[in-house]
Amino acid sequence: MPRKASRSIAVVDEHPVAVVPVSERRLSFGGKWAYAPAPESVPVKIAPRYELFVGGKMVAPKSGKYFPSLNPANEKQLAEVALGNAADVAAAVSAARKAFAKWSKLPGRERGKYLYRIARIVQEKARELAIVETMDGGKPIKESRDFDLPQVAAHFFYHAGWADKLDYAFPGRKAAPVGVCGQIIPWNFPLLMAAWKLAPALACGNTVVLKPAETTSVSAMHLAEILREAELPDGVVNIVTGAGETGRALVEHADVDKLAFTGSTDVGKLLAKSVAATKKRLTLELGGKAAHLIFEDAPIDQAVEGIINGIFFNQGHVCCAGSRLLVQEGVFAKVLRKLSDRIKTLRVGDPMDKNTDIGAINSKPQLEKIRELVQAGVAEGGELIQTRCALPAKGYWFPPSLITGVTASHRVAQEEIFGPVLSVMTFRTPEEAIERANNTPYGLSAGVWTDKGSKIFKMVSKLRAGVVWANTYNKFDPTSPFGGYKESGFGREGGVHGLLPYVRLES
Ligand code: NAD
Repeated sequence: MPRKASRSIAVVDEHPVAVVPVSERRLSFGGKWAYAPAPESVPVKIAPRYELFVGGKMVAPKSGKYFPSLNPANEKQLAEVALGNAADVAAAVSAARKAFAKWSKLPGRERGKYLYRIARIVQEKARELAIVETMDGGKPIKESRDFDLPQVAAHFFYHAGWADKLDYAFPGRKAAPVGVCGQIIPWNFPLLMAAWKLAPALACGNTVVLKPAETTSVSAMHLAEILREAELPDGVVNIVTGAGETGRALVEHADVDKLAFTGSTDVGKLLAKSVAATKKRLTLELGGKAAHLIFEDAPIDQAVEGIINGIFFNQGHVCCAGSRLLVQEGVFAKVLRKLSDRIKTLRVGDPMDKNTDIGAINSKPQLEKIRELVQAGVAEGGELIQTRCALPAKGYWFPPSLITGVTASHRVAQEEIFGPVLSVMTFRTPEEAIERANNTPYGLSAGVWTDKGSKIFKMVSKLRAGVVWANTYNKFDPTSPFGGYKESGFGREGGVHGLLPYVRLES
């Protein structure tokens, strides 16, 4: 029985999307799934409407306009979100500038206390926040709960530790804050991207105007409540929701000292052009098309699990997703058979079910983009291997897919799909593997599976990617810098390297 919902409370066990296991081995008894759904049942308050967060207050947008934020698993409106315009951005920048005067002078150990407090409150509310993230973005609850939220807290904890130790991060230099930072984030890891941006900026004494992605702004507004609860001084963080135009107003605002952007390469290029003739600092974390390499000497079963995680984690909505699989010819047939068997066991369906492996695609346009690229892959001669499964009638879904017979010139091998689709190719020698892996405009990440340490060192030194995982994939830690080469952007986030964009080093 669904629980009764009050007007401002969405009760999370009222979600009509059926869990649909992909496996053909699934049995159905009298129209009921043999498989028992296990929905997350913690109640969470989701307001019908979210305002802007400016100068420590929730304020209505100057235009009076709001836009819907949908749950992509059922296409229902989850809430409506304020549409910030240039005047709202100006008010937020002005609040950040005012707050900077005091915040930048606060001793590091005091700034650190706020960050520790934020980290602890995030931990306390992690289960609710995970639900908000899943309902607004479509990712499986087990990923929001076991990956995103622990990482969000870890980023605040880690940077809290740096706040009073910047002298040790940059020995012999004085690290002064840069000023007001405009930060623009995407929809694939909404809270985590906010944490990646806010934590180093605040630790170094800067103030911020954050612009979340338009399809996933709700969790950012829950974070705003946490910042208030942590008693972060007014204006140190401001959040202006809206779409591309709102982001553009932030990029073009003359009183922003530093811009940090995570998103597509196309928009990243616009930002680079826009700031070219200004004194603004810029870091760009952009798209990727990672090569994932399996050598004949690799532990094949582990490698296959790594490949599955590398591409299907978060429905493939991951900038570092291992979307180009390169298999050494001698093990190609074996790897393909194991991959084809394994994707049949992945469960696609209700993101709120704790057993779901692949949730909803974040938005309709993203689903259309995935479909278009898969159709192009088939039209160009690729063979599509896809599990047959009944998908829920409502919502945005795409089953886990492999495309074989792909060549380097095919669109699926070149363009970022940002979905649960793996292009499979082969290679003969390590040299050929390196050449094929680097044959992309991107350079964010790569993965290598081999039993030989010497081969790992050789590959890592030759692969033009910011992060290379060996015999594992998708491992993240706030102490480790992350970022790209070439069209994947510049600048690093995480580790000491991630502090650099937020400080002015003086001798
Ligand atoms: P996007 O570029 O469309 O949007 C990203 C953000 O930029 C959103 O908040 C959007 O509203 C805003 N924006 C759009 N147009 C703008 C403009 N003209 N000026 C200023 N802001 C603007 O990207 P997306 O679809 O939200 O995210 C997916 C992309 O992000 C993928 O390409 C993915 O690889 C990339 N990504 C990269 C990393 C990384 O660390 N390198 C991490 C996550 C996502």
